[in-house]
Amino acid sequence: MNTPLTNQPIRVGVLGFGGLGQAAAKLLSSKREMILVAVADQNGYAYSTESLNTQACITTYQNQGTIGHLEAFGTLSNNSIQDLIQVTGDTVDGYFLALPNLPNDFIPSVAKEFIQAGWKGVLVDAIKRTSAVEQLLSMQDELQAAGITYMTGCGATPGLLTAAAALAAQSYAEIHNVVITFGVGIANWEAYRATVREDIGHMPGYSVEAARAMTDAEVEALLDQTNGVLTLENMEHADDVMLEVAGICSRDRVTVGGVVDTRNPKKPLSTNVKITGRTFEGKISTHTFTLGDETSMAANVCGPAFGYLKAAQELRQRGISGLFTAAEIMPKFVK
Ligand code: NAD
Repeated sequence: MNTPLTNQPIRVGVLGFGGLGQAAAKLLSSKREMILVAVADQNGYAYSTESLNTQACITTYQNQGTIGHLEAFGTLSNNSIQDLIQVTGDTVDGYFLALPNLPNDFIPSVAKEFIQAGWKGVLVDAIKRTSAVEQLLSMQDELQAAGITYMTGCGATPGLLTAAAALAAQSYAEIHNVVITFGVGIANWEAYRATVREDIGHMPGYSVEAARAMTDAEVEALLDQTNGVLTLENMEHADDVMLEVAGICSRDRVTVGGVVDTRNPKKPLSTNVKITGRTFEGKISTHTFTLGDETSMAANVCGPAFGYLKAAQELRQRGISGLFTAAEIMPKFVK
């Protein structure tokens, strides 16, 4: 049985245990309203009815390549997500999908696995591309019928910044444009392989498939040419479809770009969203929401993801299922 509407902590699983998955586990270890009970990576999974020790999970993953080797709780599997769903059933309330969306329909296909398994609960992703969110939007009825409350686009961008844009829009009678500019600094690209590959997929001359097919050596050779820096403009980012679906502005008014430094944890620029519109008195103005430079990508993705997971759990307990985006629902603060 899923956790009922009480003070019980929410039992959480994390799918994908790379850069974001590990950060998510670390973040959860300081929370009392959520406990980490399940983790899956490409080659295995771990599950404990009580809770998993974050440090043991990370050490096992980093030293042995998969969480499947975790003492007492790990199982090796080439079909880890499906196996984990079967083994855990409804003892997990919700999952954060910290998975690569490579190919571009991978996360929607995982959502289908949950539906086919007859699983009920809450799912949250930090998916990035417009076309990927559109696939999930087309699954709205299926998710609702399945009893799954699914929150999509709940990382930083899309996610925190899209939600900030939705909030800022309230000052205006008409939204002229939403401009998102992100700066990401990471010490080395290997810590976030999927994120970096997906970003390369936005560069001129590249695609999701081309980036997915690149070997690690090819990624490194590309990064050598740019001194480790990726500059991205006019990205296909789901902030646009999310703000459109939320009824805030048409997607052509939303632009996303950014700079990713893969060799320096210092942000190359301050991540911000600017929302320009006209007030009911006819004044044109711009609201700007800027993230603190000290906040990492991991903090700005995993914090919102769990805030939306908590919001989704509350909706589910009120009998509301189906698909929602970060622009439609307020995240709840997880203690
Ligand atoms: P990563 O490459 O560091 O790790 C990926 C993990 O997924 C690995 O543990 C791998 O074993 C696991 N995995 C791969 N295929 C699997 C499968 N079939 N079954 C189970 N596990 C599987 O990834 P990352 O850099 O942490 O990125 C994760 C996702 O987060 C990416 O899709 C990225 O785009 C997204 N992201 C979103 C935002 C945002 O603001 N919305 C920001 C950064 C990253």
